[in-house]
Amino acid sequence: MHELSVTQSILNIALESAEKAGAKKINKIKIAAGEMTGYVPQYVQEYFNIVSRGTIAEGAELEFRKVPASALCRSCGKETPLTDYRFICAHCGGNDLKLIHGREFLVDSIDID
Ligand SMILES: [Zn+2]
Repeated sequence: MHELSVTQSILNIALESAEKAGAKKINKIKIAAGEMTGYVPQYVQEYFNIVSRGTIAEGAELEFRKVPASALCRSCGKETPLTDYRFICAHCGGNDLKLIHGREFLVDSIDID
């Protein structure tokens, strides 16, 4: 059920931006979804259909852009991709890593009328 609260946040952000832009309708919301968030796009869309009822975002399509997980290695100072959820630097094999991408769930942009 953790999709519900993030879906509500996505809706609020989209409505706020649309209002500022003087939009009458939100057609599409593009979302950057970190691959480590574990949110299921289908569930997010289903929740969205419910929470957006009666708003200008009703019927809007959600488009997900998967953000690959990556980290900064404190040992060699390079950015490394994280594969299979393993916290190991691809450059030096170190494991002193700081996560940069992969946990975000953000509104990239909205398509409005
Ligand atoms: Zn490294």
